[in-house]
Amino acid sequence: MAFFNFFLLALIVYTLLKWIWRGGKSKPHKPPARQGDQEIEEMKQDPVCGTYVPASLAVTATQMGETVYFCSSACRDKFDKNKKTS
Ligand SMILES: [Zn+2]
Repeated sequence: MAFFNFFLLALIVYTLLKWIWRGGKSKPHKPPARQGDQEIEEMKQDPVCGTYVPASLAVTATQMGETVYFCSSACRDKFDKNKKTS
């Protein structure tokens, strides 16, 4: 019976410690870095007008194997024209 009592006591202590451990930072379980996705998004500079645009919203063109980002298709057209004349 002594062993059983010890086991029960250990279980109570363990549960209590676990409860105290979680008590300090009692947050609901939610995945981290989910809300930051949008804010962390990479900003690309439009070489034509100098505007910074989020990569996902940018108009892109590929030049010499590199992706170039523009704020609008108008800027991309301007860039294409400059490329041809120079
Ligand atoms: Zn632009």
